[in-house]
Amino acid sequence: MTVNPVPSVSATKSPPLATATTAGNYFVANYPPFAFWKPEFVPQFEAALDRAPAPALPNGAAPAPLGVYCHVPFCRKRCHFCYFKVYTDKDSSEVRGYLDALLKELAVYAGKPVIGGRKPRFVYFGGGTPSYLSPDQLRFLTEGMKRLLPWDEVEEITFEAEPGTLTDHKLQAIRDLGVTRLSLGIEHFDDHILEINGRAHRSKEIARAYAYAREIGFPQINIDLIAGMVEETEEKWRETVAKAVELRPDSVTIYQMEVPFNTGIYQQMKSAGKLVAPVADWETKRGWVDYAYREFEKLGYTVTSGTTVVRDARQVKFVYREGLFSGADILSIGVASFGHLHGVHYQNHHEFQPYVDAVNAGKLPVYRALRPDAEERYIREFILGLKLGSVSASHYAGKFGKDPREQFAGPLARLNAWGYLTNGGDRIGVTRAGLLQIDRLLHEFFKPEHNTGRYA
Ligand code: SF4
Repeated sequence: MTVNPVPSVSATKSPPLATATTAGNYFVANYPPFAFWKPEFVPQFEAALDRAPAPALPNGAAPAPLGVYCHVPFCRKRCHFCYFKVYTDKDSSEVRGYLDALLKELAVYAGKPVIGGRKPRFVYFGGGTPSYLSPDQLRFLTEGMKRLLPWDEVEEITFEAEPGTLTDHKLQAIRDLGVTRLSLGIEHFDDHILEINGRAHRSKEIARAYAYAREIGFPQINIDLIAGMVEETEEKWRETVAKAVELRPDSVTIYQMEVPFNTGIYQQMKSAGKLVAPVADWETKRGWVDYAYREFEKLGYTVTSGTTVVRDARQVKFVYREGLFSGADILSIGVASFGHLHGVHYQNHHEFQPYVDAVNAGKLPVYRALRPDAEERYIREFILGLKLGSVSASHYAGKFGKDPREQFAGPLARLNAWGYLTNGGDRIGVTRAGLLQIDRLLHEFFKPEHNTGRYA
């Protein structure tokens, strides 16, 4: 491993605070960046599948925990800010063909040495819109998944849902699957904002779905909001936060609007020859998230990451996020999905038919992969940990063999000089101002060759 040189911090200025929202990915979800994952590394991934699971810690005491991510790429409508691979035109036989492909894909993994007898500790249904599926389709999918990798050791099952797809009957079916966290993609409570941003649901559907989900007792209900959608105003944001607070959700995830190149908003910008997206600037969006955090904190909620606030931090856990951030194996199935097994990142084919055809031909539908080296693994886990706002230096020293204050002396010195760090004993923490812009600060920890300005 290399140690980044300690710079003369007095001569180093904080990276300029981006003001206007221009096109590109802002949110750091993984490392090294996806742009460095390549088709030529897929054989490394395939070789990793034939080895027993990697240990969770260097002492080899236990294998890394296993989680399953299942990607459901169907939506009723494509939101104008969406950058995921989603399909709005598939009929029921194509959906059924996709569910068959998911189970065939999972069956290939279930028979590989890398699973090593492990059962999933967490399962995550993301998309797209998992709640687009009918109750019968959901039962078919989940029963098949359980037959291949039993869920009797699962601690958490997360299910993303679009409010307008949730009838009472479907909500009950989702609850009966054993879902522990229902994650509602609300985004905003104002009907005009929802409409102008291409969302399929309206506020009435939010109210009905939330009330029934509460009534039937989901252990945890998370709501997603986005600060800075097209035509957002200070007043409308405050109203949305007030409505979110009124619901008393167990947790709230708040994203700052980004405009990646594969969104409808960017297409409109391009045809109009515009460089700046028609949404609030970054400083305003940070202010809006801060406002929301403070409103929730008044009620005793706790900010637990740059994007999350929770009602009871002792009870509300995010097992999937903890696993993802700490090097767990994530067996990811479905078109365009991202996973990580035995130290290798991988992504599936990002088009529907090549994905289904590869699985039906008995092949793994993996399109690109990357095995991070030891230094990259350390950077990955450390920067993802910083997104939670505070990390334990001794945890990383024990796991990676070197204290992060030495390993990352340079970037930590810079963040400290810019006023974004709090240090106390074993903890390395990020200030609220730092947390609200953590994704851009994390680039300070990247290897130089990965700081290309192109994240995705
Ligand atoms: S519901 Fe979510 S996944 Fe579907 S189009 Fe909208 S943002 Fe994308």
